Amino acid sequence: MRAAVFSGVGRPLSIETVADPKCGPRDLILAVRQCGICGTDLHASQGGLMTPPSGTIFGHEFSGEVVEVGRDLKTDWKVGDAAVSLPMIGCGNCKFCASGNPFFCGRVQKTGMGQGVQGAYADLVRVGINETVRIPRGVDWEFGALVEPLAVALHGLNISSFKAGDNALVIGAGPVGITLIQWLRLSGARNIVVTEISKERARLAEQFGASTVLDGSLHPKELERQIVEALGAVPTCIFECVGAPGVIEDCFAVAPIHAEIVSLGVCDRTDHFRPFIGTMKEINLKFAVAYLRSDFEHTLNLLESGALNPAPMITQRVDFDHLSAAFEGLKVSKTDCKVLLCPGC
Ligand SMILES: [Zn+2]
Ligand SMILES: [Zn+2]
Repeated sequence: MRAAVFSGVGRPLSIETVADPKCGPRDLILAVRQCGICGTDLHASQGGLMTPPSGTIFGHEFSGEVVEVGRDLKTDWKVGDAAVSLPMIGCGNCKFCASGNPFFCGRVQKTGMGQGVQGAYADLVRVGINETVRIPRGVDWEFGALVEPLAVALHGLNISSFKAGDNALVIGAGPVGITLIQWLRLSGARNIVVTEISKERARLAEQFGASTVLDGSLHPKELERQIVEALGAVPTCIFECVGAPGVIEDCFAVAPIHAEIVSLGVCDRTDHFRPFIGTMKEINLKFAVAYLRSDFEHTLNLLESGALNPAPMITQRVDFDHLSAAFEGLKVSKTDCKVLLCPGC
């Protein structure tokens, strides 16, 4: 099969012919129809804690068609079915797997991160039976590939104390912030204030229902003043969707007393913040990672019903020939949201 292979920090992805994935007895093989490029992939390719060994194939946001079913499986799955999958294969037996949360399984193999399963910047990808979810009729391959990023934000919202009628502050309108705005709207947010430095992303945030979008490059003091001017008070629900050093301290600075900050941005660099500021406001700082199988199912249900329509998130579509250039471009782009690879296009 063809695949885009990571060959080391500072090198572009190379399109190569590699061995097809082997279908284990409890696996399925999908022909990849769409795969999103994630900020995590870009970041991991540039060095740091997340950087995988060379030879890794990225791609953990994908939809595909079943082309092979594991021989030990007594299952309804058949060749031709449309599927998405959590990008990981758990042991299937531990308490985490049993509760649909295989991310924390001690024997989990993660997909597209150099941790057991090759990713979906490829013609084919191997998935586990327990982690795979059927795409309902009426949900297309592109929306299928957006289920993973939507589930990331849904999980972040689920672990927060946000409830309908609350105001929310979203720091950053990249793909994570944009998906979160959609869930906040669906969950009955009163006002959603978003901070963002890019004009294009700010426009997208408004399109998805942000009530107020403020310039993310403002000093926290000025930001606080503008939020108070718009809403009367800074929201106690703050979602950090940037994942860069300094952002948590900025959140501390604008947060009101007893605020909750949920960090959804992924930052693998050393950060400095002064806990004292959090202490003096009794701030609750939480971190969110991944999702449950039920988050994928819920997301698919709402895509099917039309309650979620993430189409404007897709800002670019590429085939294999243009993937490597698009990947490099995204490392500097502040205008794109989701770029999708269609291996068969
Ligand atoms: Zn992702
Ligand atoms: Zn397990």
